Amino acid sequence: MAGMASSLNRRRAGVSLVWLLAVAPVWAAAPAHASLCERGRQQSPIDIVATSRQPLPALQVAYRPAPLRWVNDGHTVRVRFSNGSHLQLGADRLTLTQFHFHLPGGDRLRGEAFPLAMHFLHRAPDGRLVPLVVLWRLGAPSAALDALLPDLPAAGEPERSVSGVTVDPAAWLPAARGYYRYDGSETAPPCSEGVRWLVLKQPQTLSAGQLDQLRQRIAPNARAVQPLNGRVVQETL
Ligand SMILES: [Zn+2]
Repeated sequence: MAGMASSLNRRRAGVSLVWLLAVAPVWAAAPAHASLCERGRQQSPIDIVATSRQPLPALQVAYRPAPLRWVNDGHTVRVRFSNGSHLQLGADRLTLTQFHFHLPGGDRLRGEAFPLAMHFLHRAPDGRLVPLVVLWRLGAPSAALDALLPDLPAAGEPERSVSGVTVDPAAWLPAARGYYRYDGSETAPPCSEGVRWLVLKQPQTLSAGQLDQLRQRIAPNARAVQPLNGRVVQETL
């Protein structure tokens, strides 16, 4: 299954693959892929309940601020990076290509659903997709969100750079870098598997007002949780 996914990944250029993960399902438009979305055994998102604690490599964040470049494609708001920002995970350098928003969050923790998730998409040296998930629950307002919310692009506007505004991807991550790890899939057709998901254990918080502002720009775009089918979720010690 991983071999097939990686061959699919090679056929599709980086931008289009990244786009596929970000968009909401368009099931009727992708009948050829419906079988994997419906019958795949390693699909995302999931509810993380039981885990296996393992000495996983520490997540080293080497993100750098970049000029803000973003788009609202009608399904999500996506902020693109091409400035060498990366995660170091053991021997793997995972290059950040973009982050985007999901309302609600998709992945759950012990049954808890989250109103918002951010997916930071990375490309591994072997070509595999490695999303890092930041989950958000209601609470104190987020300063990082406040900086972006006033100018959030509307659906249909062309992708644009915002002059004089930089975005620091590290500002969105929680201080604690413990994570869960599981083998999953793209969350939209063709639902290709072989995607290595990392989910940060510590959720961030945003205010109800900030969530309302996001909802004005982004319609619900999360896929329902999928069966584990025997998969084991690993967790850092
Ligand atoms: Zn996503």
